[in-house]
Formats: sequence, C-alpha cells, structure tokens
Amino acid sequence: MYNPKSLKAEEFIDNQEILDTLEYAEANKDNKELIDSILEKAKERKGLSHREASVLLACDNKEKVEEMYALAEQIKKDFYGNRIVMFAPLYLSNYCINGCVYCPYHIKNKHIARKKLTQEEIIKEVTALQDMGHKRLALEAGEDPKNNPIEYILECIKTIYSIKHKNGAIRRVNVNIAATSVEEYRMLKEAGIGTYILFQETYNKESYEKLHPYGPKSNYAYHTEAMDRAMEGGIDDVGLGVLFGLELYKYEFAGLLMHAEHLEAVHGVGPHTISVPRIKRADDIDPSAFDNGIDDETFAKICALIRISVPYTGMIISTRESQSVREKVIKLGVSQISGASRTSVGGYCEPEPEEENSEQFDVSDKRTLDEVVKWLMEMGYIPSFCTACYREGRTGDRFMSLCKSGQIQNCCHPNALMTLKEYLIDYASEDTKRIGEALIQAELQNIPKEKVREICKDNLAKIEQGIRDFRF
Ligand code: SAM
Repeated sequence: MYNPKSLKAEEFIDNQEILDTLEYAEANKDNKELIDSILEKAKERKGLSHREASVLLACDNKEKVEEMYALAEQIKKDFYGNRIVMFAPLYLSNYCINGCVYCPYHIKNKHIARKKLTQEEIIKEVTALQDMGHKRLALEAGEDPKNNPIEYILECIKTIYSIKHKNGAIRRVNVNIAATSVEEYRMLKEAGIGTYILFQETYNKESYEKLHPYGPKSNYAYHTEAMDRAMEGGIDDVGLGVLFGLELYKYEFAGLLMHAEHLEAVHGVGPHTISVPRIKRADDIDPSAFDNGIDDETFAKICALIRISVPYTGMIISTRESQSVREKVIKLGVSQISGASRTSVGGYCEPEPEEENSEQFDVSDKRTLDEVVKWLMEMGYIPSFCTACYREGRTGDRFMSLCKSGQIQNCCHPNALMTLKEYLIDYASEDTKRIGEALIQAELQNIPKEKVREICKDNLAKIEQGIRDFRF
C-alpha cells in the first residue's frame, strides 16, 4: 500500500509503513553498526529516509546521541551559517467552526472572546509590528467560511502589503489558514504570499479523527492532501508541522518525514519549512490532559534529527517555547524564530483586558523584539529580517538549488547584514545597536566574494543615509 508518489493520504502516510518503521527502529536501536552507517550517510548532507532517521530517534546510547547533536550543529552551520530569520504571527480572526480538542478556538467554546480584525484594525496592528521592526508575518485565522472567507484573507493581505509607515514595511506574508481548494490556493499565490503553512497536528488517522470530531477539519484526507493542492495552485513554498503532545512522538516523526519524502517524490521539492509546536495551556485547554507530551530533551533530539534528515528545510520555533529551550534548539538546527508574539486577535497595539481574552495559547517567551535580537547577537547569531528569496523568485526548487550550490554565504549572509543594519538604525535600543554594529563589521569579513562584500559595504553606507531595501 505504501507509495510516496501516491496522491492519496492513506498511501503516502501509510499507517502500516509507520508501524513497521517503528518496529524496525526499536529492533535496531542498539545496532551500532547500522547506527554508524546511518550517521556516515547523514554526513553526506543529503538527508535520511524516515526509516533511517527513526532508528536514530530510537537509539538512546548517550555517545551516539552526542554524535547526532554534533552533526546537527555542523549541518546547521554549513547550510544556515549563524543567521536566524525573524517573524511574528498576526491573528486575523478567531472565529472557527471546527472542534479541535486541543485548541480554545473550537466552536463550542462560548466564553472566549470572538474577534475579527477590520481593515482599520489591521492597519493599527501592522503599524505596531512595523514599529517593532518586523518585516515578515505569519497570518493566522480560524476556519469559518462565513466570517473568514478567502476574500477576507485576500483583502487583509492586500492591506498589509500596502502599509508603509516611516521606514517600515511588511515584505513577506506567510499564511497559516485551514486546508482549502486548489482555486483558493491559486488566489493566495496571486496575492503574493510567501509560504503556505499548515500543521498536520497528527499523522495518525485514528487519533486525528478523535481530535477533530466535527467541522471541515475532521476530514483527514482533505487535510493531509492540502499541500499537494497548494502546490497544484502554484504555491511552491509549503510549511509542515505536527503538534507534539497529541500522539506518540515517534509516530509523528516518521509521518512528518514521509510527508516530506512524498512532496519531494511528487513535486520535486520538499517542504520549505517544518514547525515543531508543542501543546500549550490555553483558555479551556489543559496540556496535561494529553498523554503524549514530550520533555525538553526529547524535543531537542527531534529538532536535531529533523536538521540531519532534511538539511535543506528551514525549521521554525515559536514563542510557545521558553528562552532556554529556544537557545538549545537554535544551536541544533532551528533557522527561524518569532519574537514578541501575541496570540490574541488585535494584541499588538494594546493589551487585551482580561475579560476579553481571545488568545490561542500562552506564550512562554514574552521578551520584546529588541531583547530577542540582542540575545541572539550576544550568542553570536545574526538576526535576519531578510525577505529577498521569494521577492527575487527564488522559491521552491530554485531556493533549494541556492542552498545546494553553496552560494548562500554570498547571498543570504549579506542580506542578513543589510536588513539587520536597517533594524539597528530604525528600531533598536542603544545597547542593541552597539552590539549589532560591531557584529556587522566582524561578519562582513565572512562574505567570501570580494565584489559582493564591496557592494554590501556600499549598501550599508547608503542605509545610514536613509535608503532602504537592498538585496542580493
Ligand atoms: N485554523 C487553521 C488550521 O486549522 O490549520 C490555522 C491554524 S491555528 C491558528 C495555528 C496552529 O496552532 C494550529 O495548527 C495548532 O497546531 C496550533 N495550536 C492550536 N491550539 C494550540 C495549543 N493549545 N497549544 C499550542 N498550539 C496550538
């Protein structure tokens, strides 16, 4: 039955294949010879199959796990350097007709405040986000064809791209909305979205159906096949994810990699990003009611193994995680993080009164963007506000070939420095600015091509004079 090229959910995420994989992984978790050969293969930086990666996940030999971490760290450095891309979520509406049992937006929740931003409110929210320094957003909305039809989402995107406040601009809008039709994906593509993100929540069909008892999202096949429709609609950057805590993590891990293999097999390009959310406390949601929560160590191992298994796929971590967890997984492979996030509808321009709570979940990392930027730089990372790739048409396999050609250091690196410079001048505190200026000077030396380095220096000087938005 298992067929990565099939367009049927139950064939490319074949339950029996996952069960066989887990059995194979368990049987070989102490097979040193096999584990060494998988690690050798991983060193070629061409990724691992779901079976190979699952053996590594099952292996709990301390020494071997350390080797996995070291390799993940090295692959991260080789492909992503020390850049960390910054973004913020923007909640448009929490009206929802689904019944997701882990999400407080489910239709039966009668005490959460239901809100939907008007275009005027969007201008206020986006202005507040621009004033922090954000350039990249992930739009979030519940599923409700009456309150949040595609026309509403498209109108919001148009408004967001049109807002130019001081030197601010949102240059990339990613979208995380419910699974939809090819036709609607085409509309999103035409509206200029970056990545289409949709979390699978769980790959286990039986659990999926229990966790989504009613509403359009209850259809496992329609949800699981969404990325194929998105790609058919012309969106070639798609973002996968599972909500860890719902099902056994080993099952989810194998499913996630099978999904990536499926996209590669059918469309010739794997996922652009993978997100790794864990269930959080929320309005009427208690995370301890879910039996499959994972500890921080297991979480870190999953992140490291995703990095090893799909080296060209970006990895995203949100403010669901604390500063210390984020610190650990950034080192092991995460390439994109959110900062200063609000998960309420309309939470950026003013805090919500307690009796009007519209939040999707509690965030753990509550620092300001300036604090996050400073923290990253103090650890030697370059916070990047770059949005160049998709604006230059480097999406899908063209982005992958940029990664594979090793030209990232002549492209993403200077772009990161130039967008950081904009941030420092326009939004940073004095302290952050001082650290950032020194970092930029030091990092200029790490641009391999002299010509690119010279252009970058020139552009940095122009940014000082007030010109914005340079990119390679
Ligand atoms: N309604 C869309 C959908 O169904 O895919 C948009 C996604 S929702 C706004 C964003 C994601 O938040 C969900 O896909 C889910 O994984 C996650 N989420 C929901 N409840 C959560 C909770 N209690 N803790 C952490 N993440 C949660």
